[in-house]
Amino acid sequence: MIRRLCIIGVGLIGGSLARALRNAGVCEEIVGSGRSVGNLEKAMELGVIDRFDTDPAIAAAGADMIVVAVPLGAMEAVFRAIQPVLGTESVLTDAGSAKGCVVDAARAVFGEVPAFLVPGHPIAGTERSGVGASFPELYQGRRVILTPLPETDLRALDRVTLMWQAAGARVSNMEVTHHDAVLAATSHLPHVLAFSLVDTLSRLEEHDEILEYAAGGFRDFSRIASSDPVMWRDICIANRDAILKMIDRYMAGLNEFTGMLREQDEERILETFRRAKEVRDGFVGH
Ligand code: NAP
Repeated sequence: MIRRLCIIGVGLIGGSLARALRNAGVCEEIVGSGRSVGNLEKAMELGVIDRFDTDPAIAAAGADMIVVAVPLGAMEAVFRAIQPVLGTESVLTDAGSAKGCVVDAARAVFGEVPAFLVPGHPIAGTERSGVGASFPELYQGRRVILTPLPETDLRALDRVTLMWQAAGARVSNMEVTHHDAVLAATSHLPHVLAFSLVDTLSRLEEHDEILEYAAGGFRDFSRIASSDPVMWRDICIANRDAILKMIDRYMAGLNEFTGMLREQDEERILETFRRAKEVRDGFVGH
């Protein structure tokens, strides 16, 4: 199905996709690119890629499928670097966690949204990074959202859909702005809260004691604060407006709760917790 797959950014997301597609037997050749030779050599050792070049243009030349899985802040530079080598058969997609900024980056580089670009976002991941953290089952049964534009070539959309399905994912399409609003609520806000909570606690005078006695609840809530800071800085900046809206909504909820607590309004506190528990239990399938 894919003659030459080029993965730019062979980390958790790009590496896991390469591994899944290799296992599925749908790629003839997989070429990697990234900044550090060390990570790319490790990707070779692990059998994730067949060869690599740190110059994304050399890696992408002749590829019929190019997946850009670098932090959002690096997308535009990568698009600019590979622009001269994109051929008529090339399909370009990405894995970035916000989509409006990727479309803006494409417009800045190509002058318009190119028909061969299919912006995408796998709703899968862990708090770990680098090719060493990648594994082929990452996308099994997980959702991938594609955000095609009116300009998008339907054959390119089909090819990217088939690629993710071959990796085990369930693919759906969504409009760019809607994607960014939904993900601000379900992923970006929780990450901001986790980073912010851990940072706040760590700056309390008695922080050593707090962390010493922290138990399962803290571990669960704070797990995603172990995610890559560069990646999350880029996501926050890229999806700033949607995240700010969600922070406002969250602060309103927290203020409401503060009022209930001050007034010792047991009934409303219980009502809030019951409502939240019902939603969370439904989500995890209790
Ligand atoms: P990662 O494990 O850190 O991998 C990113 C890769 O990009 C690294 O191999 C890095 O190579 C390379 N890279 C970084 N800056 C680069 C640059 N300027 N030029 C070329 N290569 C560069 O991160 P990830 O978790 O796979 O995330 C990749 C993308 O997927 C991000 O856009 C993120 O928003 C998105 N995403 C992440 C998750 C998640 O849960 N992690 C989920 C969905 C989507 P070097 O090691 O050589 O620097």
